[in-house]
Amino acid sequence: MTIRTAIIGFGKIARTEHLPAIAAHPAFRLVAVVAPNGAQGVDVPVFATLADLLAAMPGGIDAVSLCTPPRVRRAIAAEAIAAGLAVLLEKPPAATLGELDDLEAQARAAGTCLYAAWHSQHAPAVAPAAALLKGEAISRLAIDWREDVRKWHPGQEWIWEPDGFGVLDTGINALSIASAILPERLFVEEADLFIPANRQAPIAARLRFSGPDLTASFDWREQGEEAWSLCVETAGGRQIELHNGGARLVVDGAPQPLGRFDEYASIYARFAELVPARIVEVDGNPLRILADAALIARRITVAPHP
Ligand code: NAP
Repeated sequence: MTIRTAIIGFGKIARTEHLPAIAAHPAFRLVAVVAPNGAQGVDVPVFATLADLLAAMPGGIDAVSLCTPPRVRRAIAAEAIAAGLAVLLEKPPAATLGELDDLEAQARAAGTCLYAAWHSQHAPAVAPAAALLKGEAISRLAIDWREDVRKWHPGQEWIWEPDGFGVLDTGINALSIASAILPERLFVEEADLFIPANRQAPIAARLRFSGPDLTASFDWREQGEEAWSLCVETAGGRQIELHNGGARLVVDGAPQPLGRFDEYASIYARFAELVPARIVEVDGNPLRILADAALIARRITVAPHP
C-alpha cells in the first residue's frame, strides 16, 4: 500500500525531518504540501490551506503530517479527520488537553488513524530503559534539559506567545520519555516558570513531582552544548541514565550498545503500521503533566529575552 501523504506546515521540523523521513520510507509518497506563505524546494503542488488541497486533489491523498505550531493544529486535524485522512500530529499534539481529547474522540468516531508522535519516544535508549524499569519502584528522577533557544528555534516568534509553550515545548520531549519509561505516573507538586519580562512564555522551568526525589529542570539559556539527560534511580539501587536525548543509555555506570538514532524513521515506520489498521495512538500524558504544572506554577519574571 502506498500512503499518499501531505505535509501541513512547512517550517524547520518539516524540512529537516519529515521530508527526508517520508522520502526514505517505501510506504509513503509525498504528494502535496500545505504552506500559507509558500514552500521553496519541493517538487509537489503547494497549497495555502488543506481545504484548497482537498478541492484540487479529490481522492488523491491518504494521510497528513501536521507540522504547524500547536495553536492551529486542532482545526486542521479535525478537517483532515472529517475528510477521512490518517493524521500524524507533531509534538505537542495539541495546544490543550481538551483539544487533544476531542481529536481522539473524533478519530475514533470516524474510524480514522490518529497518531500523536512524540519523537523523543523513538530515541534508541527509550525501549530498553522502559524494559529495565518495568515493575520497579523509583527513588530518584532527575531530568536536566538545557539548550540554546537561539540555536534550536531561530527566529521563531510563536514559541514566545501565550500558547507557544516557551521552554515547555522542549521540556515536553523529556516528559514524553518519562511517560514511556517510568512505571508510574508523575504528579506535579511544585512548579516554577521563569518568564522573560518582555515575553509571555517561560524561558526556564523547574518542576517537582510527588515522591521521594523527583525533579525536572528545563532551560533555554544554555550557551554551550545542549544537555538532554534523564537519570533514574530505583529503590533497589539501579541507576538508569539516558543522555543526548535518549541517544545514549548508561546502566549502573556502564554504557549500553544501542541502535541508530533516527527518531523520524522510527515514527514513520510506526505510522505505516497504524494507517492501514486505522488505529488511534495517543499518549496525552506528557501534555497532562505540563497542564498540571501550568495550573499551580509560580511565575517568576526574569531578564528580557532579545
Ligand atoms: P516553524 O519552523 O516555525 O514551522 C512552523 C510552520 O508552520 C511554519 O512554516 C508556518 O508557516 C506554518 N504554519 C503556521 N500556521 C499554519 C497553518 N495554519 N497552516 C499551515 N502551515 C502553518 O516551527 P518548527 O520548529 O518546525 O515547529 C513546528 C512543530 O514541530 C512544533 O510543534 C514543534 O514543537 C515541533 N518540533 C520542532 C522541533 C525543532 O527542533 N524545531 C523538533 C521537533 C518537533 P509561516 O512561517 O509561513 O507562518
